[in-house]
Amino acid sequence: MRGDCGMAQRPVIPRAITRRDDGIEFEWDQAGHRGLYPARGLRLACPCAGCVEEMTGRRLLDPATVALDVRPLGVALVGAYGLRVTWSDGHDTGIYTFERLLASCPCAACRAAPARPSA
Ligand SMILES: [Zn+2]
Ligand SMILES: [Zn+2]
Repeated sequence: MRGDCGMAQRPVIPRAITRRDDGIEFEWDQAGHRGLYPARGLRLACPCAGCVEEMTGRRLLDPATVALDVRPLGVALVGAYGLRVTWSDGHDTGIYTFERLLASCPCAACRAAPARPSA
């Protein structure tokens, strides 16, 4: 008998994560689906409590305070679900979940997909 547990939602786990000076590249599957997330865009999307108001989801981070050349200095896995990024501006409290990252994958194929409204 095959187990039927855990079928509802497959956890999103990238095959490879590459830190680059201009961003972080995630390789999502064996078929070569990968997305390069630009450094500053990722920094501005930081989901930590200091950057986003927890209750309302309102963004507290003022983009004007983030350097144009901000870059990731280091990345560390958080459990099997996310990634913590240490930024060149000293910020390192945000945990980016793979699920959310995949949902906002910047690769050409994902951006062309009509399913997701870009709001
Ligand atoms: Zn933050
Ligand atoms: Zn993609």
